[in-house]
Amino acid sequence: MPKRPPKDAADLIPDHPTLTRVRAASRDCHACDLWKRGTQTVFGEGGPKAEVMFVGEQPGDAEDLAGRPFVGPAGKLLDRVLAEVGIDRTTVYVTNVVKHFKWEPRGKRRIHKKPNAAEIAACRPWLDTEIQLVRPRALVCLGATAAQALLGRAFKLTANRGAFVPSSLAPLVLATVHPSSILRAPDADVRRRETERFTEDLRLVVRALRGTHQ
Ligand code: SF4
Repeated sequence: MPKRPPKDAADLIPDHPTLTRVRAASRDCHACDLWKRGTQTVFGEGGPKAEVMFVGEQPGDAEDLAGRPFVGPAGKLLDRVLAEVGIDRTTVYVTNVVKHFKWEPRGKRRIHKKPNAAEIAACRPWLDTEIQLVRPRALVCLGATAAQALLGRAFKLTANRGAFVPSSLAPLVLATVHPSSILRAPDADVRRRETERFTEDLRLVVRALRGTHQ
């Protein structure tokens, strides 16, 4: 069999993977150029057998510095909504399709830049391994980048958010907005309405897990 290029992330996955071993291996990943600008690899985090996995786009500024996913403003919003729908954050697994922060400078700030298709593909072995190891009952894509990476590039978040979609990734798969998009809303009214919609989407997941779809 032809050998893959040594930079491929798949070559770094340990033979007998556990989340701890895979997380450690991901620290040395150079499978795309994003490692050069990010402070560190931000691997997923949460229960090794979590019932629900949330997948976002990439770590943000706060996550890049902390080395942990969803600890910045968007993560705090996610925490609040999880509490609202009765999900304990410590029982879920949170991760991203891309494990390094992609950014560009604007003055003294580091501004989020969307990862491209090659970066998403390069990072995919890490996410696939997380999904295989955690085997969540419900997988929630947060935002269009995660949804299209996992459900296909033709997936339209605007048309299909909040609906369960058939997928081999998990028994229950649903896409909704990324909480950071709610924080970017132009005013408090829109933010409140979008937070309510986001809460309803996550409530659907809770009901489906409990076997009640009302
Ligand atoms: S973004 Fe992913 S593929 Fe690229 S260097 Fe980081 S961990 Fe590796």
